[in-house]
Amino acid sequence: MISRIDLRGDVLPEGGALRDLLPRAEFDVEAALETVRPICEDVRHRGTAALIDYARRFDGVGIERVRVPADALAGALDGLDPAVRAALEESIRRARIVHREQRRTDTTTKVVPGGTVTERWVPVERVGLYVPGGRSVYPSSVVMNVVPAQEAGVASLAVTSPPQADFGGLPHPTILATCALLGVDEVHAAGGAQAIAMFAYGTDECRPANLVTGPGNIYVAAAKRLLKGRIGIDSEAGPTEIAILADDTADPAHLAADLISQAEHDPMAAAVLVTDSVELAEKTEKELEPQIAATKHIEDRIVPALSGEQSAIVLVDGIDEGLTVVDAYGAEHLEIQTADASAVAARVRNAGAVFVGPYAPVSLGDYCAGSNHVLPTGGCACHSSGLSVQSFLRGIHVVDYTRDALAEVAHHVVTLAEAEDLPAHGAAIKARFDWKVPGGK
Ligand code: NAD
Repeated sequence: MISRIDLRGDVLPEGGALRDLLPRAEFDVEAALETVRPICEDVRHRGTAALIDYARRFDGVGIERVRVPADALAGALDGLDPAVRAALEESIRRARIVHREQRRTDTTTKVVPGGTVTERWVPVERVGLYVPGGRSVYPSSVVMNVVPAQEAGVASLAVTSPPQADFGGLPHPTILATCALLGVDEVHAAGGAQAIAMFAYGTDECRPANLVTGPGNIYVAAAKRLLKGRIGIDSEAGPTEIAILADDTADPAHLAADLISQAEHDPMAAAVLVTDSVELAEKTEKELEPQIAATKHIEDRIVPALSGEQSAIVLVDGIDEGLTVVDAYGAEHLEIQTADASAVAARVRNAGAVFVGPYAPVSLGDYCAGSNHVLPTGGCACHSSGLSVQSFLRGIHVVDYTRDALAEVAHHVVTLAEAEDLPAHGAAIKARFDWKVPGGK
């Protein structure tokens, strides 16, 4: 059912043309802007009342308030399955180990005697964290959003996730329990574009946020794009993607399992195997059918994802060419299953996250590797990073010059100001030296 693209024997086209040959889901955020614009405007003007109306319309549930009461968070934690709690605690522990190490320290650079520039890292004051809850519920996304924000030192953070009809209009209990485990006490039952607008404009129940992060569907991505500027956003993390670069040393049963594991997220999920081995391609195709039959979410997600235009097995002439292909694709998740996988992985330029060798499947990274799973999709990995502590910090340059240090460079500043026809800039320097700029006019 998965299609094949045979690039063997061809001279690969350059960059953009090669990327266009490769399969990718149609994720037209521009088109969705027209859908989300009125929703965001409505939330801006009617606040909570609009959120309640959209909960009824899009989530099929009547709610009276959007802010989740504290006792619901405590109750969800009490009711959490002990095995799930243990797994979440391990996921949190590992994520903390990795993200704590990412915290940058302030650096002061002495440019000249008496002149320094310090880069001071300051956390964003308030962040809104989106946790998807349409098709699947993602308590793991609570961990992946909250841990880096906390490790960055964000003072105020709020989580939002769609209200669930099966749970009295609250977000899924496992999401609430995960928030409680992490010490998050502000949670809202809002999904889609309206949730992003809630964070951008604020309501009577939710203060506006400075930054909104987290993955979501096309409406979430469109609202983030629309409201960017008013709020900061992370990357537009859309439908999930896995690419695997494999040679004949890879195990086809593992490859099939890993392709299916990402296809089960979403009918728009992309699964791409790039290999120089026809035999491996054939064996992987044979593995797919029985493995799909033995799993869940077959007709609604896995079959459409794997048979869709966004998934394929791509045949190439060797691993070097395979690297060119996966770099052009810029997958959210890239597995390297080749001989000497570490050396091959070290040459990858574009990927949200790279998983090296047979024992680092994407599922590990989704939950318990310690790495972050909120990653750029749709080829954005060529210019963006996944979520990290850095996403929640701003670097402020602090410029500190003495009179002598300014005097030494004053004539250059005045010259550049005049070259840009901005004489007031020069005057601001001259004023400090009674118009007698050393070495200047
Ligand atoms: P979601 O929470 O993103 O979206 C659900 C919301 O969409 C609903 O609450 C509703 O408000 C809104 N909505 C639904 N239909 C609408 C319509 N017709 N018009 C306007 N709004 C509408 O949940 P989801 O839909 O399951 O999507 C989650 C996505 O996140 C998936 O694509 C998944 O692959 C992706 N994901 C990505 C990452 C990553 O790091 N890239 C991680 C986890 C999940």
